Amino acid sequence: MDRPAPREQRLRSWRPRQLLITRSAREHAHGRAIAERAAARGIPVTELPGNQLRLGLPEDERRAYAAAKSTLAVVNAPPSKLRLQPIAPSADWRVDLAEGCPAHCAYCYLAGSLKGPPITRVYANLDEITAALLPYLGQGRITSRSAARAHEGTTFEASCYTDPLALEPLTGSLAALIRFFGAWEADVQLRFTSKFADVSSLLDLPHGGRTRMRASINPPGYHRFEAGTDPVAARLRALRRMAAAGYKVGLTIAPIIAADGWRDAYAALIAAAATQLRDVPNLDLTAELITHRFTPGSRAVLASWYPGSDLEMDPEQRAEKRTKFAGTKFVYPPELMKELKAFFHEELAATLPQARILYWT
Ligand code: SF4
Repeated sequence: MDRPAPREQRLRSWRPRQLLITRSAREHAHGRAIAERAAARGIPVTELPGNQLRLGLPEDERRAYAAAKSTLAVVNAPPSKLRLQPIAPSADWRVDLAEGCPAHCAYCYLAGSLKGPPITRVYANLDEITAALLPYLGQGRITSRSAARAHEGTTFEASCYTDPLALEPLTGSLAALIRFFGAWEADVQLRFTSKFADVSSLLDLPHGGRTRMRASINPPGYHRFEAGTDPVAARLRALRRMAAAGYKVGLTIAPIIAADGWRDAYAALIAAAATQLRDVPNLDLTAELITHRFTPGSRAVLASWYPGSDLEMDPEQRAEKRTKFAGTKFVYPPELMKELKAFFHEELAATLPQARILYWT
């Protein structure tokens, strides 16, 4: 099994400025363990008297953002989270271990979907979350109904509202979920994707081949859009280590950004992935291809969070589409979409033919 190279020691490990834990979360051993781990690292822990998160954020929008982003709250997943939702095109069902993320990506899709200040909330009632999965076995309507993907079993995606690996050193939630799937003797698959690279605590877990980790990647030149994440080269090394440890793996190339020079940049990225994954025995590799898009709401939030970003989010340069919730989203125009799609399919086939493309969007 691949072991950490010395440079892997310098990977990001989030250190929030404070941790808040609610009364109900303290009733769960998992919640208490998270608070204890934070306290042992010198992070101030506040035990809230009830279940409301009252932050007393500053009036100033920038300072309020910074205060919220540096706060970790340990709460219980509400009952609505225990009734799973389908998550097309990734998986049959969404399983949430947390909501929010410590990174600062200029395109973050959470900006349009999460309400309120961007505090990261991690869930303490992990036992209830895992118990809630059982009735969904065999009930999938997304990948289970796809002729090309039904062999994956009932799929559960853990990266919809967070980057679970970013929180793992403090929570241990992802490792617990991987163990749960490892012990679940059924046709199921846990999926997660990450822009982080510290996988050291996951390598030796009894995963049973029922987890697929994907590295979420973009060319190194786009790292300015992904503040607070690990470098893409480290993410690819992490993926190699996971593959060598017997995990199923994948690439989430997302969001695909058609900035100047995109062809060369993405060709080099795919070549880097091919080099990194070369010679991994029994490699089970997929690719998911997601183009950059935004909504009027996410654009406004991101413009307020990252006013200095040079990421293009100009509706005039985009095609307007309806979302499934009757809203509006802006995607690349059809001609450019066609060009991008052809490029990625051809480039992957030529450079990384082991990668099975699961979807393009
Ligand atoms: Fe958002 Fe993912 Fe970036 Fe976190 S890593 S800020 S979830 S895009």
